[in-house]
Amino acid sequence: MEQWQMEMSGWYPEFQALRHRLHREPERSFQEHGTTQLIRELLTGWGAEVEEHPGLETGLTALIRGAHPGPTVALREDIDALPMGENTGLPFSSCREGLCHACGHDIHTAALLWAAKALCRLRDRLHGSVKLIFQCAEEVGAGAEQMLALGALGPDRPEAVVGFHCDPKLPWDTVGLRYGPSNASFDILTWHITGQGGHGAYPQQCVDPVMVSGYLLTQLQTVISRVNSPTHPAVLTIGEIHGGTAPNIIPDRVTMRGTMRAFDPAIRQQLLSAIRRITEEGCRALGAEGTLIHDVGTPAIHNHPDIADRVARAVEETFGREHLQVIPEPSLGSDDFACWIEACGGRGVQFLVGSHDPQLPNSSLGLHVAENIFVDECLKTAAPVLVRFALNYLSDPRS
Ligand SMILES: [Zn+2]
Ligand SMILES: [Zn+2]
Repeated sequence: MEQWQMEMSGWYPEFQALRHRLHREPERSFQEHGTTQLIRELLTGWGAEVEEHPGLETGLTALIRGAHPGPTVALREDIDALPMGENTGLPFSSCREGLCHACGHDIHTAALLWAAKALCRLRDRLHGSVKLIFQCAEEVGAGAEQMLALGALGPDRPEAVVGFHCDPKLPWDTVGLRYGPSNASFDILTWHITGQGGHGAYPQQCVDPVMVSGYLLTQLQTVISRVNSPTHPAVLTIGEIHGGTAPNIIPDRVTMRGTMRAFDPAIRQQLLSAIRRITEEGCRALGAEGTLIHDVGTPAIHNHPDIADRVARAVEETFGREHLQVIPEPSLGSDDFACWIEACGGRGVQFLVGSHDPQLPNSSLGLHVAENIFVDECLKTAAPVLVRFALNYLSDPRS
């Protein structure tokens, strides 16, 4: 074990306590003021340069400038919590009602801070700089886009970006790595179906948007089964449908909301335009008016092979090959980490770090589950891998 890694492991209690503090005080997307302030104070204390981005209220970037010239490599984690109650029974459970870190972003934040402290002390070995990105509002799919729009990457685009997400299905001493597509694109869609309301006894005088919505609901699934190529995974889920006030009244309007997931950007556009066509033309065929609103869009994550090799090497050198698991299948879940990869010219990887302890059954329930426990120990896996990746990337180009 190298000197830095030994020194780093001695700081575990400090970052375990920090993780507990973050866990106890969760903040929802775009309201991560306390978390941002804490990160700012810690980084400043260790000598990282916190960068100012006018207009950015939560989330933060900072630079660890190496002693030697060279490229910049970015490490990114997310800091927001979820609007749901916690039911883990942990002594450091959320103290805020209806808010908790059920996606492990407290682990992400603490691990990146731990890595940052170590890298601040390893400046002499850095030929280039490490850019730290503590991203706000991942859970609403909008934080990365906002930070990028406010110039978070600065004039010198990092050569690569790397980060991790906790995975309750993997043991805490294991890193999961997927080459190529790992997470789907994410779109939120809203449909408004407008008809002509009236008395439930006289449908002939009305255009019934409830009936039209039932038709539309089934027709939209043909986008997945008939428009999409079966060799390319895609999902359309309609999770909300609202309309009507009484059993004998035909309402004027029905609203539906849903999400679409895909991997290939061209296919994604093709599916979205088919959804629009079926919405508009399908409703028109039944005498109603259908409008589609495309709310949020996040691209798919495609892990870059060269960067993935470098992450694999960092895991091997830090813990050994047996701690690396190549993930065979992509996930239809999404993460706006994809925006950072796009902004870094495609050279990025989001890897997984197990957060499951085989002795603790409640630690493998899944993300966004009120009872799921993310064990502290996964910090010990995540932080050194981030450090090793950056050290290797910015090692002396002559050696
Ligand atoms: Zn989440
Ligand atoms: Zn998450």
